Amino acid sequence: MSECVTIIGGGFAGVEAAWAVAQRGGKVTLYEMRPNRNTPVHQTGDLAELVCSNSFKSNLLTNASGVLKEEMRQLGSLILPLAHKHSTPAGEALAVDRVPFAREVTETLEAHPNITIIREEVTVLPKERPLIIATGPLTSDALASEILKLTGGDSLSFFDAVAPTVTYDSLDMNKIFRASRRGRGMTEPTADPEDGNVCGGAPEPSADYLNCPFTKEEYFAFWEALSTAELAPIHNFEEEGGAKMVFFEMCMPIEELARRGPRTLSFGPMKPVGLTDPKTDRRPYAVLQLRQENKEGTLWGLVGFQTRLRWGAQKRVFQMVPGLENADFVRYGVMHRNTYVNAPRLLDLTCQLREHAGIYIAGQMTGVEGYLESAAIGILTGLNAYRSMNSLPPAILPRETVLGSLCHYLVESDPKHFAPMNSNWGVVPELDGTPVRDKREKGRRKGERALEALETFLQSLEHDTLLRLREAE
Ligand SMILES: Cc1cc2nc3c(=O)[nH]c(=O)nc-3n(C[C@H](O)[C@H](O)[C@H](O)COP(=O)(O)OP(=O)(O)OC[C@H]3O[C@@H](n4cnc5c(N)ncnc54)[C@H](O)[C@@H]3O)c2cc1C
Repeated sequence: MSECVTIIGGGFAGVEAAWAVAQRGGKVTLYEMRPNRNTPVHQTGDLAELVCSNSFKSNLLTNASGVLKEEMRQLGSLILPLAHKHSTPAGEALAVDRVPFAREVTETLEAHPNITIIREEVTVLPKERPLIIATGPLTSDALASEILKLTGGDSLSFFDAVAPTVTYDSLDMNKIFRASRRGRGMTEPTADPEDGNVCGGAPEPSADYLNCPFTKEEYFAFWEALSTAELAPIHNFEEEGGAKMVFFEMCMPIEELARRGPRTLSFGPMKPVGLTDPKTDRRPYAVLQLRQENKEGTLWGLVGFQTRLRWGAQKRVFQMVPGLENADFVRYGVMHRNTYVNAPRLLDLTCQLREHAGIYIAGQMTGVEGYLESAAIGILTGLNAYRSMNSLPPAILPRETVLGSLCHYLVESDPKHFAPMNSNWGVVPELDGTPVRDKREKGRRKGERALEALETFLQSLEHDTLLRLREAE
């Protein structure tokens, strides 16, 4: 171990990691390739640049994003106080004036006596440890191939092609039934959605699915709405180099399949073969299957429904599915360029590579999504890199916290079906005792529990200067 933490990437994760180390007294070398070499979407040379929306989502403590922000504050975040300083009116959300915000983040790190910023693309993995790789969804090609060499084979994804995710407790289980197509012991490969996620996943003979059964009339109304729904735009840079083609070769969007003809879905991913609805004792006209996405069974993904529809259109069209009328979409389907590792195969709960001690992955590369989530993982990796450099035990966040739950999601997901995730209550464990039906009240209680757990954790975190810093504020 050296005296200094090396960080590659000065985006949301990189700046928070640098701050977490430097504020504790550790030295940091931070590499950022901009402005010498740009990404296809960044516009400036500033650190922590917001590339699209200027929103950090909800401030409410009944909302998982609001609680994540409070957790980050408690953990000594750099960007949150600056985001508040540069906020613009946005109701219950935190939105920022992006240019002065990023400028002040940059100036703050440039002025920090423990931080050295080197404006250079890293093309070969540095030998120094601890090393934090925080190069984000648009990691440069040379570094991506270095990471692939280190972690092997199919450990890195370059495109996100995912279907929407809904919460279990928002499903109408009076309409939905549980069953696998042919029960256990599937033998031969077929084109059934259960043979994987239609994006090339391996067969899963023992999987237990939730099935949303359609009548003929319901199916055709759904098909009509799906095949005419509005698409999200593709960014210019995603069309370059045939990237758009790769989406379609990898994974056909469901609306694209629907446009091929009225029966394409009912003969394809919505085929009802092997399924009998116990309520009618008949095979439905078509089915949409849901597959469990987390260990607790609180999150379910729409099998084979990777989509490029606009989010509003997804909600409108997918709520036409029998049983999903009131579905709570914790994540909408997306198909876009995104570099991320197969976290459940590679990472531990501190986001360190299990096979390469001293190397941490941070930010969107871990498989979280969004400015806020990426920054939060940056804080965690900075804290742990500093602790490892000082021979202190790792800091693993409590499961009840939003950040701790995201880490568990990353590490415990099924590696064959791993899909990026943002902050939401579905990843956080259920409350003990009588189920709370009211969504806000449930969020409020989960939030309170998260912040209490974090407080206890921080009090017990030995040898950390953070408490001293908080008291000095
Ligand atoms: C087109 C697009 C739109 C998005 N829209 C939104 C949105 O509206 N809301 C939202 O919350 N999130 C959005 N995101 C996601 C958001 O950008 C990320 O979640 C967040 O920026 C991730 O933070 P990060 O630190 O992991 O990566 P980044 O913020 O991207 O930072 C990574 C940094 O690493 C640098 N870098 C890359 N390779 C190298 C290298 N080899 N050497 C040195 N430096 C390198 C890059 O220049 C960059 O500054 C969007 C992403 C994209 C691509």
